[in-house]
Parts: sequence; C-alpha cells; structure tokens
Amino acid sequence: MRLMRFNPIAEYAPGKTLIVADTLSRSPLTSTCTETDTESEVTCYVASMMEAIPASKSKMDEIKMAIAADTELLSVMKLVKRGWPEHITKVPMDARAYVQVKSELSEHDGLILRGSRIVIPRSMRGETLQKIHDGHQGLSKCRERACSSVWWPGLSAEINRLVTSCQVCHELKRTQQKEPLISTPLPERPWKRIALDLCEYEHQNYLVISDYYSRFIEVLHLPSTTSRRVIQKLKAVFARFGIPDEVVSYNGPRFSSADFQEFAKELDFQHCSSSPHHPQGNGHAERAVQTAKKILKQKDPVMALMAYRSTPCSTTGFSPAELLMGRKIRTTLPTLEENLIPKWPSMTVVIDKDRKEKAKQAYYFNRRHGARPLPALRPGDVVLSKLDHERSWSSPAVVAGEGITPRSFVIRTQHGAELRRNRRHLQSQLVPQPTPAKPGDTTGIDTHSDRPNMLETVPVCQSEAALPNPLSSQTVTRSGRVCKPVNRLDL
Ligand SMILES: [Zn+2]
Repeated sequence: MRLMRFNPIAEYAPGKTLIVADTLSRSPLTSTCTETDTESEVTCYVASMMEAIPASKSKMDEIKMAIAADTELLSVMKLVKRGWPEHITKVPMDARAYVQVKSELSEHDGLILRGSRIVIPRSMRGETLQKIHDGHQGLSKCRERACSSVWWPGLSAEINRLVTSCQVCHELKRTQQKEPLISTPLPERPWKRIALDLCEYEHQNYLVISDYYSRFIEVLHLPSTTSRRVIQKLKAVFARFGIPDEVVSYNGPRFSSADFQEFAKELDFQHCSSSPHHPQGNGHAERAVQTAKKILKQKDPVMALMAYRSTPCSTTGFSPAELLMGRKIRTTLPTLEENLIPKWPSMTVVIDKDRKEKAKQAYYFNRRHGARPLPALRPGDVVLSKLDHERSWSSPAVVAGEGITPRSFVIRTQHGAELRRNRRHLQSQLVPQPTPAKPGDTTGIDTHSDRPNMLETVPVCQSEAALPNPLSSQTVTRSGRVCKPVNRLDL
C-alpha cells in the first residue's frame, strides 16, 4: 500500500552498487510502524483510488445519497467500519450477500468500495446496468466494463440475464457455441463408404479419394475439374477396387451436376453431400486432403504415397493397404517373405479400437471447447443464418425441415429460396422475454424489441456519445491512425 502512491520502475543493479539498501538492511529500526501509520496509508490508498474512478462529483454525491437511504448498505458500512463477526450466523441478514467479499470491502467518505470498484446501492442498479449494456457489446465485454468500476452482489448474473435476453446483442454475436463432436463409426468393411474431395496444389487440381474404413487414399491428377473428367477418374478406381455403397462429397458443382447423379444411378451407389460451407461436417475427407497435400509436396509423390499406404495407423495398428487388401505391400524397406503372405486383420478389433480412439478425441474436444448442444430447431422457427466467411448474421429465414446429414437444416429465405445450412450457421431468433422479475434491480431495461433497425445501435456511436470529451476521440497519429479512447464505463 505504501508503494501504491508511487509509480516504480524496476531496473537491474549489481549488488556492489546498492550501498544504501545494503547498509539499511543490516541496521533495522527497533520500533515497527504504528497503527496510525497503517491507517493513514489505507486512507491515502483509498483516496487515490477514488481519484481514478471515472465518475463526476455530482454522480458521486448521488451515489452517496442513495447509500444513505439504503438500509442494506448502511448495515454493510457499519460492519466495514467496526469489523465483521467471526461467524456468518452473527452477520445481519441483509449484509450476508457481502460476507464472501468482506476482506475486499472498504469505506471512504460515505462510499463503499470493493477493491477499486464502487458498490452501487439498490436504487441505482437498474440505471447502472443499462450503462454497462450501452453499445451492445455482448456478455464478456459488458462484464469487463463492470469489472473496471462497479459492483453489487449478483451483478454478473444480472448482466448475463440482460445480455441473453437482448435481441441486438444476439444479432451482433459473431461466434456460436461449439456443439459436441459427432464421431462417425467405421463402416463394417473396407471400401463400403468413400469420400471424394478436390485439392489444388501448385495450380494443378487433384481428385482425392479416401476409404473410411482403411484410410487408404488415391490422389489423381485432374487436367480439368468438370464432372465428366471426375467420373472418368472414378470409374478407373472403381474398376480396381469395386463400386462402394456410399460416396460422400462436399456440395460442389461437379458433384451436384446431373451427369454425376446419372453416374451414381447407373453404378448404383448412394451419393450424399455435406452441408455447404461446413467442411467440419466431413472431417474424414478434410484429413485425407491434408495428407494428399503433404504427399504432393514430396520430391517423389508416388513413393510418398506408397509409404503412407504401408505405414501402420496409430489408432488401429494396421496399415491402409493391409486393411483394404488383406496383405502388407512390399516396399523399399526389407521385410521377411512371410510378412507378405495375405492375412486379414480382425475387423471387430479394428472397429473397436477406432471407436475407443474417437470417443477419447470427442471427450477432449468437448471438454476443451465446453461444447454444449445448441437449442433444437423446429420447422417454422425463424432463424438468422450465416456463412463461414460472413461476419454478421444475415436477414431472417424460416426453417423448412431437417437435412439428410446430422445437424443440417433446410431453410427458406425471404425471397423464397431454399438453402441447406448446418446448425452452427443458424441462430434462433429471440422471443422477446418479459423483464426479469426481481424488482428494483433491472428497472428501465430496454429489450429493444421495438427497435426498427439494428444499425442504429452500432457500438462505437453509443460509446463515443457517452464520452466526456468528444473532441479527444478524433485524435490522429502521425501515421494517420485515428485514436479511439478506451471504452470505459463512465458513470
Ligand atoms: Zn444488447
């Protein structure tokens, strides 16, 4: 506390130059500091704290007057001055909410502080909450603003309630809660389900085919990316390994074309595509493309591909070639003749090992991201949608039904177009909620349900309007950057 008044700079100095400190440390004072000394230090500290609080004199007086009329805070103030009873049962009922932070509370000139934050009396909490929420900056920003200047018991929960029920904050929210990972189980046999994807490397296009069961991949050069060319390449691969039951691709034009649909019908395989703009929906194909790119970067891509196909996978312990063809392939690495004799790995063991590994990955993913399922959507619900590269939520659309893949939905836009979107890119619109029930706490909350246009509440405009000196917001640096003042809560 003594040093609080100073602005020290730490610098390194060799011991031999610290003569004064060295001497004094060997010659301590006999008397320690007195009680009054400490008290004056505390008063000094609190006074410096008060100086730094961003509130005008009149506002401070208003808070003081409100505290004088607030029985709860008067009782807390008495306890702060006289000391708290040792046991909670001896604390008066109305001051119990403050017990947890009693060590941080201090009193100065008719005000109560928690650390450097002013404790706001009940009658002014609604208005203060509104100020915290000015500019609709979302939950964490609102909490940050509050943390820098005000406090009362239950403030965090009140901010949470206000922000989650605010339509404007909801629309401005950019990121969506992460959903629990869905792991796809391995198919029962090799080459039953395969994934297709295109990959570009050094201005050349490649078709990447990967088997879900064995993770065996084919990388084929595509002189052009038309449907016909893709079909031609696929036919050659199907001639080698047979026709799969199911082909999964992203929703690109060459896979959604009539030619491709015709090809699927003719060869009798099921074709399904993942949600547009949601590559995470087809993690298997994504990983195959990553592997293909790594292989293409090598000096001899063909040999690199062979090395990939003959290397045991860490999850199952078997190589892609072994899982697809039932035998190890001979590579440049010397091996015994008997190792090359065909021998099928047990499929139940492979599937079981893979299931356990995926469950482990899902567990860590969900824990790391705090993943929770998003609220369910029903046909007829009004939603806002967004694409991966868009930053804000577009105009409302209506849910028409569920898509074929998990968490995918078909939505109808205002213009009547039907689109497919993943749940992650849909946000249900808020149903205006009645203001929270607690009286006195949240009076005057505007839920913005009657706001005609969200553009009127762009964060910057509001926070700048609240600044004491509008001219300072126009300071321009030498490099031409406009300085924006820190957005502090101004009481
Ligand atoms: Zn808001």
